[in-house]
Amino acid sequence: MTDPPERAGAVLTIDLAAIAANWQQLRDRAHPADCAAVVKADGYGLGASRVAPALARAGCQTFFVAHLDEGIVVRRALDEAVCRRKQAASGREQTTSCNGPRIFVLNGAPSGCEPEFSHHRLCPVLNSLGDIDAWAAFARRQDRCLDACIHIDTGMSRLGLPPGELHALASNPSRLGGLHLTLVMSHLACADEPAHPLNGRQLDAFRGARGVLPPAPGSLANSSGIFLGSPYHADLVRPGAALYGVAPLPELPNPMAQVVQLKGKILQVREIDSGASVGYGASHRARRSERIATVAVGYADGYLRALSNRGVGIIGGQRVPLVGRVSMDLITFDVTDIPEAAAHPGAFIELVGPDHPVDAVALDAGTIAYEILTSLGRRYHRLYVPSEG
Ligand SMILES: *Cc1c(COP(=O)(O)O)cnc(C)c1O
Repeated sequence: MTDPPERAGAVLTIDLAAIAANWQQLRDRAHPADCAAVVKADGYGLGASRVAPALARAGCQTFFVAHLDEGIVVRRALDEAVCRRKQAASGREQTTSCNGPRIFVLNGAPSGCEPEFSHHRLCPVLNSLGDIDAWAAFARRQDRCLDACIHIDTGMSRLGLPPGELHALASNPSRLGGLHLTLVMSHLACADEPAHPLNGRQLDAFRGARGVLPPAPGSLANSSGIFLGSPYHADLVRPGAALYGVAPLPELPNPMAQVVQLKGKILQVREIDSGASVGYGASHRARRSERIATVAVGYADGYLRALSNRGVGIIGGQRVPLVGRVSMDLITFDVTDIPEAAAHPGAFIELVGPDHPVDAVALDAGTIAYEILTSLGRRYHRLYVPSEG
């Protein structure tokens, strides 16, 4: 679907080895808790069918997605990468059964889709009493004991059983009949602000909830939550963003390896006179004669329009300012101070990379790195640096 590199307007390099290394770092930090991986939104925009197998090879046994269809994609990728390999190693093609890693679907099962969950070996996260009853009824119809993961709302007020439903369940645990409770989870609202009082309140509420439910492993921490310390680790941590190089604690140096590099190709370079303007709305006006490099990336590629007159590129090791508005397919940089030998048509300007990581781009755009990653466009030529194994 993507253009070959020599034709593409931009090249997006995704380092699967760095993702695997980040997972191992988080696993070690969370030990003895287990470490899952959140690969929703197509692996935060980086390609879930490449990311999930790389993580499985690194040792990850539990994945989270948001939607049923994402779960199906991840299951297929894991079956191809992990189960085939095991079957090949055992020398038996079809006979070896392989359940593969667990996949939880955070948004739960849309009603009537329960058979698809069981067919693809997906476990819906049960976010309400209604979800629990529907999944238990499906288990009874199948005459099978099914795994269940219950999400308790401890302060996000978004998904999960609110306190009233938790207490209704606690006083009538037979509603879980036919289900095997494999996980009780909740989600932190302010984990990236370690001093926020809601963290402690959510931890207390989570412990309280687990205390009134049948015993089961617990999971509370996202990426930032892992850095709040071991009380928050429970039995399973659920990092997403940090796997992809996003700083888990914005105030501190980023301990994660960088994963993404994006280079946009210069299509043209032109000299403009002092007073000439650049782009839609003439929002940049040259104060001297300037050399303007036009790059084949725009907001249609997820290069956010909020970066107009605020973005930064790196060329020849030097920073160049984005001038003018971000258009659909083009952006413009002031390369006056860059030697012509470096800034010429066909050369690349780095838009995301070691010298300007996703967190810095997010700051420029007035957003968070999550949005930068999940917006990365489909027109980029994607290169994957393989992980080991
Ligand atoms: C997205 C998500 C995560 C991962 O969060 P990060 O901040 O990306 O680590 C964990 N748990 C739930 C419920 C989520 O929705």
